Amino acid sequence: MTYKTYKEEDLLQLSALQHLLFCRRQCALIHIEQAWSENLFTAEGRIMHDRVDTATHETRRNIRTEFGVPLRSLRLGLIGKADVVEFHRQGDVWRPFPVEYKRGKPKHDNCDRVQLCAQAICLEEMMSVEIERGALFYGSIRRREDVVFDRALRVETETTAERVHDLINSGITPEPDYSRKCRSCSLVRLCMPDICGKKRKASRYLAGISGE
Ligand code: SF4
Repeated sequence: MTYKTYKEEDLLQLSALQHLLFCRRQCALIHIEQAWSENLFTAEGRIMHDRVDTATHETRRNIRTEFGVPLRSLRLGLIGKADVVEFHRQGDVWRPFPVEYKRGKPKHDNCDRVQLCAQAICLEEMMSVEIERGALFYGSIRRREDVVFDRALRVETETTAERVHDLINSGITPEPDYSRKCRSCSLVRLCMPDICGKKRKASRYLAGISGE
């Protein structure tokens, strides 16, 4: 099978996948307009990631753990960093096993699994290996969940990467659409979805009654 490959200068941040799956407007605000705002959720997440980042590596029995591992995939067009990559010894081979740290609890959607799968695809491309699974560690329940990188998850990850490239290349930030997730969004003050959304609905209504 032949895959599309991106050039170095076209690589985007791997974290954009998760931003896009959370909200297209949030993804555009961060990656097109370079807006960033820290709230309690992102601050806790950042502190957790910083803690993970302070060590570089350790080895215990048959697991070697590397922290803050640089990632890149020309196939997905992404660049980033893995919190943790464990290398599990199987005979003479050390198999990579990415682990991503999240502050909250497991989500109903696939965004965390897609981000982890993208990390696995980066590692596969960089190390010419196949990676079958990884894990997500959730801070609020202090437990990790195994994630299998099956065909469906890989397709969803590749599709999401393409959507991120399309959105960012368009240079157009989508209009806000107020919903429950806005309450936990770090950009809610910048985005003002309740005000902008209402204004937009009102202008559409006025345009409708004036026949524009
Ligand atoms: S506040 Fe809501 S609409 Fe605005 S970026 Fe965040 S999630 Fe998206």
